Amino acid sequence: MTEAKIIDGIAVSKRLREEVATRAAALTAKGVTPGLAVILVGDDAASAVYVRNKVKACEQHGLFSALDRLPATVTEGDLLKRIRQLNEDPKIHGILVQLPLPRHIDSHKVIEAVAAEKDVDGFHVANAGALMTGRPQFRPCTPYGVMKLLEAYDIPVSGKHAVVIGRSNIVGKPMALLLLEAGATVTVCHSKTPDLAHHTKAADIVVAAVGKRNLVTGDMVKPGAAVIDVGMNKTDEGTLCGDVDFESVRNVAGYVTPVPGGVGPMTITLLLVNTLESAERAAHAGV
Ligand code: NAD
Repeated sequence: MTEAKIIDGIAVSKRLREEVATRAAALTAKGVTPGLAVILVGDDAASAVYVRNKVKACEQHGLFSALDRLPATVTEGDLLKRIRQLNEDPKIHGILVQLPLPRHIDSHKVIEAVAAEKDVDGFHVANAGALMTGRPQFRPCTPYGVMKLLEAYDIPVSGKHAVVIGRSNIVGKPMALLLLEAGATVTVCHSKTPDLAHHTKAADIVVAAVGKRNLVTGDMVKPGAAVIDVGMNKTDEGTLCGDVDFESVRNVAGYVTPVPGGVGPMTITLLLVNTLESAERAAHAGV
């Protein structure tokens, strides 16, 4: 039995981040430092960790980052006002509002308030539409990271059958569109799909983005397939794990991503890439 090749998201991230740092330094030398504004509302512990990691990654790679911590009681109006100020701020090229938001705030309204040309998460309807019509400006960071992993390992996509499990606006749907853009035949499975294994067994590429531990097991995978695990769950011991049963899948698949160390580091890396490219576009346009 041959074991799957482990896709090393940390190593791929490191290479991409070095490239970001070089390009950020070149832009800074021309007087434009790429700037990311991160807004954190409330004191959710997991969100605070994500935000801290994003800010740290910016600082380590020559990007400017501004963190706004707003209380959980902030009104929707005040949050929208803050976003409008950042939309007008020429030092800021990317704006990220950490989700989830408190229940009294309409997250759709907040996402649409971010200027489309600073929406580095790629969640704004204008950016979702641009991706849909094949002219993406910002690709959502997690699915974009998955595409970069496939590219880094020379895993062919064009003409292949890809199965995406999950249909959220932030992962599943844009993932399906990016794979489609790259020439794959794409099947999207979700909570109402009756026989998940029937689809995954026929796939050359499986992307699991659900949030359910051990959802994908070795018997559901075609020998030699690439299995990409986006899920983030906890084991009984409290450690991080994905949606894929790594031990059984690694005996069947050709490639598999570990959790942690697979897709996770790529999400922040592509956030840096999107912010840098936004700054490059602004500098080119003389903004
Ligand atoms: P979500 O809850 O919005 O969507 C989950 C999707 O899974 C839904 O579309 C649902 O239809 C589908 N689903 C639920 N049960 C299913 C089942 N039994 N079979 C098939 N499909 C099923 O979640 P999300 O925001 O898309 O995130 C998905 C997972 O990816 C979560 O674990 C999340 O933590 C993780 N995530 C990781 C990163 C990263 O950087 N690694 C980034 C974003 C999300």
